[in-house]
Amino acid sequence: MNEMETIQITIENIPESDLKTKYGSEENIGFGQIKTDRMFTASYKNGSWQDLTIKKYAPIVLDPTAVCLHYGQTIFEGQKAFRTKDGHINLFRAEKNIARFNLSAKRMMMPEIDPEIYKKGLKELLKLEKDWAPKSKGSSIYIRPVMIGTEPSIGLRASNEYLFYIILLPSKAYFPEILKIYVSEEYIRSAKGGFGSAKTGGNYGGSLLIGQKAKDKGFHAVLWLDAIHRRYVEEVGAMNIFFVYNDIVYTTPLEHDTIVHGITRESALTILQDFGYTVKKEALAIEDIIIGIKEGTLTESFGTGTAASIAPVGSLFYQGDDHIINDFTIGSLTKKLTKKLLDIQYGHVPDPYNWIVRVV
Ligand SMILES: *Cc1c(COP(=O)(O)O)cnc(C)c1O
Repeated sequence: MNEMETIQITIENIPESDLKTKYGSEENIGFGQIKTDRMFTASYKNGSWQDLTIKKYAPIVLDPTAVCLHYGQTIFEGQKAFRTKDGHINLFRAEKNIARFNLSAKRMMMPEIDPEIYKKGLKELLKLEKDWAPKSKGSSIYIRPVMIGTEPSIGLRASNEYLFYIILLPSKAYFPEILKIYVSEEYIRSAKGGFGSAKTGGNYGGSLLIGQKAKDKGFHAVLWLDAIHRRYVEEVGAMNIFFVYNDIVYTTPLEHDTIVHGITRESALTILQDFGYTVKKEALAIEDIIIGIKEGTLTESFGTGTAASIAPVGSLFYQGDDHIINDFTIGSLTKKLTKKLLDIQYGHVPDPYNWIVRVV
């Protein structure tokens, strides 16, 4: 028997009358407003993961002193599954999400989840919910795995009990808006030695204030600079960032551990190399980027992330001026890269990288 077979999941029966009506038209799916009927849950008690269950999607009851509510023991992932033309469900690079989830867990003093439990729970859930997978072009099932410290304890220490759950959120195609980005000089997101590479609640809570200020001024997102020099470009909201100088593509390196190690970033790097581009993982200084834009040597910029896939960047607002990239149009490399990635994800072209697993 392999390990997958030894993992037992209890699947609770949901009466037909309790199932939600699925959208007739996919027009109004939006992003993350709709949840499917079921969720996968597992709890961690006495040093092990137990009670693996697929049950009806429902609120969670927590003690008011639950550790996650006070001391931030919350981590999550964001990944996607895609419906192919012939009705199968493709899961993209799930093992990467699982590995990153466990890195976030370690950093936040939370227990790792057995990758086989995560994988099997997710696959079984997707199989049961496959009819929720939207069909319209560019749509997907957004997958949100979460872990929270649930033990009641007002004392400052790690929880001894945890809840892991996976929910599925059918999502429409992300509209490829050309991003107007605000470069943050006054606020920072993370510093070397901090926890910037973990997908943990605090990293996002801390970004909301400047994010809203930027939105109020008409910007879509904030570009973070490094905490020490306020100079080197880090990442954007929930996206990594790329800058194209003709046939050389730059993106932020991972070694300082201040940015999230994006799976779309890594996939883009692989595809770009295969396109014949030189990829450089080097931190660029914001003033050099501005010079590159002014002189026309910086030809394109885009962000990468699961939700948005590849998002073209049209301008950077820095020190009072908007710096327009590529006449505020989507660059040819950005287009070509987006198409290649989506074609692989939807199974329109062969997957030379083994990134896709057919779940059902
Ligand atoms: C999730 C995330 C990314 C992108 O990671 P992907 O694996 O490509 O989705 C980038 N930056 C931050 C801050 C994120 O939370």
